[in-house]
Amino acid sequence: MLGRSAGCKAVNALCILGLVLSFGTSLVLATNGQTSTGQTSSESEDTDQDEAIRLVRNPPVIDNALVTAIHESARMADLISILDETLLMPHELLIQLAADEGPLFDPASNEIRIPDAFIEEIADRFSAADHVEQDDLLLLVEDVMLHTLIHEIGHALVANYGIPVLGREEDAVDALATLLLIEFYEDGHEVALSAAEMFAMESEDSDTIEEADFRGEHSLDAQRYYATLCHVHGSSPEDFPDLLDLDDGESADSLAEVSDRCVSEYELLSENWFSLLDPHLQ
Ligand SMILES: [Zn+2]
Repeated sequence: MLGRSAGCKAVNALCILGLVLSFGTSLVLATNGQTSTGQTSSESEDTDQDEAIRLVRNPPVIDNALVTAIHESARMADLISILDETLLMPHELLIQLAADEGPLFDPASNEIRIPDAFIEEIADRFSAADHVEQDDLLLLVEDVMLHTLIHEIGHALVANYGIPVLGREEDAVDALATLLLIEFYEDGHEVALSAAEMFAMESEDSDTIEEADFRGEHSLDAQRYYATLCHVHGSSPEDFPDLLDLDDGESADSLAEVSDRCVSEYELLSENWFSLLDPHLQ
């Protein structure tokens, strides 16, 4: 399930994360303590203690088989434990399922809260979609949860590491979620595309856009959808050539311009996120 065999795109210490995701936790021991910059973990721990990132297994509060399956999801637990073994955290970060609000990161308690109602909503949306096979439902809901989880962990990293955010933080951590999935998770492109599909479905909730939508902290769902497509395409345009085609008779030149921008944007995101995370790796 986890795995990306080789070819770490990011030539820096976050390659370790890629290798860990590729080969499992045993490699944590093999690589622990040495980053590509030559910094040892003990040196890192001078500035970053190593507190846990931990999933709190509250019992489900909604009687729904998919909600229960997500609580028990091995993919989600694996992702959390790998991040826990890879990132140096100055404070314990708890991830609470069956929370009474969210999804959100609460900086006051350093907790991520995800309510069961959110999981049920994802499940209901995919269940109602004509093109979705019942056998694929759990995988799709898990995909969205993985993207959501990294998004919220992104907020936690910004707060815990004091990462500067110039612009909308919601866009920054959306991009981080897509980036980490693409770079280090087997079929991460598809996981990110499932999250994009959820944004697309949410954008269809209303025919009109209200003033309050522009005022919100997130970009519009349709923008989050296209931003995710842009990053998936930008990471590998030859593998995903048609993602940005609106099918509206746009000229090839115009489409090529959008493609080039997405490739550049993805490269910039990748370089900047990895350089900011590099000092905080175990
Ligand atoms: Zn957010």
